[in-house]
Amino acid sequence: MSFYPLNKKIGIIGGGQLGKMMILEAKKFGCHIVILDPTKNCPASSICDEHIVANFSDKEAIYLLAKKCDVITYEFEHIDYSCLIELEKLGHKIYPSPSSLKIIQNKFTQKTVLKENNINVPDFYLVKTIEDIKNVIEKFSYPIVLKCCTGGYDGKGNYVIKCEEDIEKAFNTLNPTLNIPLMVEKFVPFKMEVSVLACGGLNKDIKVYPVANNIHIDNILYKTLVPANISKESKNKAITMAYNIINIFNGIGMFCVEFFVTENDDILVNEIAPRPHNSGHYTIEGCITSQFENHIRAILGLPLGNTNLLKPSVMINLLGEDGYKGDAILEGLEDALNIENVFVHVYGKKQTVPKRKMGHLTCIMEDLKKAEENATKAYNKLKFICE
Ligand code: ADP
Repeated sequence: MSFYPLNKKIGIIGGGQLGKMMILEAKKFGCHIVILDPTKNCPASSICDEHIVANFSDKEAIYLLAKKCDVITYEFEHIDYSCLIELEKLGHKIYPSPSSLKIIQNKFTQKTVLKENNINVPDFYLVKTIEDIKNVIEKFSYPIVLKCCTGGYDGKGNYVIKCEEDIEKAFNTLNPTLNIPLMVEKFVPFKMEVSVLACGGLNKDIKVYPVANNIHIDNILYKTLVPANISKESKNKAITMAYNIINIFNGIGMFCVEFFVTENDDILVNEIAPRPHNSGHYTIEGCITSQFENHIRAILGLPLGNTNLLKPSVMINLLGEDGYKGDAILEGLEDALNIENVFVHVYGKKQTVPKRKMGHLTCIMEDLKKAEENATKAYNKLKFICE
């Protein structure tokens, strides 16, 4: 018989919706939660036990978080890893490990490690000058994707170069004067984007979720459909790669692997996120154990839960409506909840801004088409606007 200490203290760097959804699960195990986030009324603040209001670059604040907690995790990857490495050396537990964060937060080092481990990725080169880009284009031909190696999200930090005239504009837009390293990637003419969530436990257990099909609009995730409609072979390839990636990084906690699926069913990794991911929100209602619960189980050293899909699931993000900026109100919640098997999540952000992620909805049904139909109906009712 083993006894589990109640009141384990978890520190979360970032108090957005991902942090909030981690807390909801951590509370099941009676954990005490301290978050670090610069925004006083961020989504996680209403349900955490303590909130250190500080910038993510505030080393003292991160040290304070470590002092207060048994284990630290994070909800986004753009954190100063060196501070976390120092803390780890001092004996603090941080998951996923700062050394894996260091590699993953830089798209060039991330892809280099994947390639070295025989994981299929689009061809890529580090570039420093316009001349370098031109040299790569001679090898790749148009189009190519110029990417900031660090700091990118929702496609910010990427530029598709379609012709010679784009080169200089792309280079100047991605702001090399700020010394952000850049890389060029071969453009992949994909037929579908999919993602696979995988979780590594402290007990060496690895659990992998089903393959999800992600549809983006303006580089922001719009909709996730599970299971993805791709061949069994492609699914197996993606699942195996996600499993191997956990091993490559000695991953503890949730990792999301995003892939391109090509016309001839090749699977290439686009990128990895060492954390629960927007494309895994469907797991809350759609799977036996959600990505957030498994993340918490993993970092606490508890056995991981079953990742099977309960029913075909569709998740749609609810973004701030165009044309509205200010105190947020939500229109249509009752109508949406009247639709069969629709679940709505409101993140609790006080201010809406066009395209800001304000919430999401999930519909689970026996049939994916029906789930998509109901999810779309609900989506059309829900609007984050201002009075
Ligand atoms: P972020 O880190 O900002 O999410 P990504 O590198 O994942 O950026 O790219 C955002 C989107 O841009 C991808 O979801 C995909 O649609 C497109 N994209 C990125 N890299 C490529 C590529 N090599 N070929 C084709 N499309 C790409």
